[in-house]
This record gives sequence, structure tokens and C-alpha cells, in this order.
Amino acid sequence: MPRVIRIFGSTAGPPIRDDRFIPLIELIRAWNALGQPFLVPGRYTPTIEKASEIKRLLYLSARYYCSCGDRHCNRKHSNIDGCPNGGQRIGCRADVVKDAKGRPRTQFRFFDKRESIRSVVERYGADPSKWPYQARAKKARA
Ligand SMILES: [Zn+2]
Repeated sequence: MPRVIRIFGSTAGPPIRDDRFIPLIELIRAWNALGQPFLVPGRYTPTIEKASEIKRLLYLSARYYCSCGDRHCNRKHSNIDGCPNGGQRIGCRADVVKDAKGRPRTQFRFFDKRESIRSVVERYGADPSKWPYQARAKKARA
């Protein structure tokens, strides 16, 4: 049986880390603008493909971000257990939209992950199997 290796672009294993937008996350935190929608300047999204790529990178940066400053905090401590140093974890919502002139744009917002989990619990109860979206449900049940 051949060994499975991770090839760029394959779906095996976690996605390859990308920190490119972590400075942007820090900026938006410093502005106290978590939860607010932003548009990526149009010159960075001349095509749908570029806009989608930026969307993907925004998600990746949020996935690997913890405000405690430990680059590997997310790998060592899940969002369920949280950061041992009280660091903030960030979620991302991004969409490719079209502006008034029909040009592709990437619209996104970063938000506090703990707050969003709390609001899901308030709305749907503590049982993750009843949540409409349950990325971490398997871990929570284990
Ligand atoms: Zn941390």
C-alpha cells in the first residue's frame, strides 16, 4: 500500500497554512471592527478567480490565527478548549460579490469565534448535533 503524501491542492490533510492576511486581522481587531463587513480593493480582484483566491486566503489566515502570538496555538489547542493564554480566535465569512459596475469583489468580515459559538449555543442549544453547522461537533462529542 503506497503512502499517501500531501500534495498542494489535494484535499487530504488540513489545508496548507497561509498567514498572508494575519496583519489584516490584527488591523481590524485594532479598529474594533470585528463583525463589520469590508470589501477588498477592486484592483486585487480583477477576475472571479482572483477574488475567490483572496476569499480562500482570508479563511486560511483566520483559521490559523490566535491573538496570543503563538503561531501554532490553533494546532495545539482547539477552539473548543480555547487558547490557554486567553487569546482571541477569529472566524471569517467571505463571499465573492459584484460591484455596481459588475466587477468581482471579495467581501468579508472577521468575527470573534467564541462569541459566534456562544450565539449558536443560545440559538440552538448546547448539543452540537442540533447545530446547523458543526465543523467541530465530532471533536466536542469525543
Ligand atoms: Zn493562543
